[in-house]
Amino acid sequence: SNNLMAGKRGLIMGLANDKSIAWGIAKALADAGAELAFSYQGEALKKRVGPLAGELGSDILIECDVADSGSIDTLFDTLKEKWGKLDFVVHAIGFSDKSELRGRYVDTSRDNFAMTMDISVYSFTAVCKRAADMMTEGGSLLTLTYYGAEQVMPHYNVMGVAKAALEASVKYIAEDLGKDGIRCNAISAGPIKTLAASGIGDFRYIMKWNELNSPLRRNVTQEEVGKAALYLLSDLGSGTTGETLHVDAGYHVVGMKAVDAPDI
Ligand code: NAD
Repeated sequence: SNNLMAGKRGLIMGLANDKSIAWGIAKALADAGAELAFSYQGEALKKRVGPLAGELGSDILIECDVADSGSIDTLFDTLKEKWGKLDFVVHAIGFSDKSELRGRYVDTSRDNFAMTMDISVYSFTAVCKRAADMMTEGGSLLTLTYYGAEQVMPHYNVMGVAKAALEASVKYIAEDLGKDGIRCNAISAGPIKTLAASGIGDFRYIMKWNELNSPLRRNVTQEEVGKAALYLLSDLGSGTTGETLHVDAGYHVVGMKAVDAPDI
């Protein structure tokens, strides 16, 4: 453990269970001395999130469905009453109908396109606006993205288009809030087996492909994403904003893996 986050207070959004990327991040932050609050989506998740929050010494659990602006308002009103000031937010939320996370992107429906963009992209902007009002001494905002924003990945489809928009919004938010000492970044995580990931077609195969073809020849863990988040959310990242940091065992740099080529 270290003291990188001593005296800092932050909100974790998107914890569903102990496989969530948000859990890896929350553990790294708590280990570094941060004080945490958690938002959860709906009563069903409360019984999972409550004990996990408790493990990290937090008893601040606030319901928030990011599809509802009133619910986001209530979240930040509640937090403001408890804490006044805020230092960081982790947004680890994304959603699309899993029937459209397979097959062709071109078949995406208007309704699911709008819903995917609303929950996976707009919600981060809506959260940043409210969080910034509480970041009176500067702050750091973080979201999660995936390589499917940059290059076509099988089955990622509308979520890839949404992540591209999310990465663009990180840059715009970084510019808007930078003058107030607030940084905004994304982590582009390699594939990790979570609840959300299990909705993606052939996800096991995608993980195997990444393991075989990334420079480190393995997949990344939630703990590794947690360590990168600690960098971006702590003073270590004080010079970094508008960035998408890849934590993907290097997969994003590979054009073609070096192998012993056959004679042709
Ligand atoms: P997860 O299922 O553990 O977390 C997804 C979270 O989104 C859940 O906590 C869920 O409650 C929340 N959520 C969905 N709709 C919501 C709504 N309307 N309101 C509030 N919360 C809502 O899965 P995860 O893989 O940890 O996902 C976290 C983030 O990481 C997502 O943005 C995902 O796209 C991203 N990501 C995941 C991977 C991966 O391979 N798992 C890779 C790169 C990026």
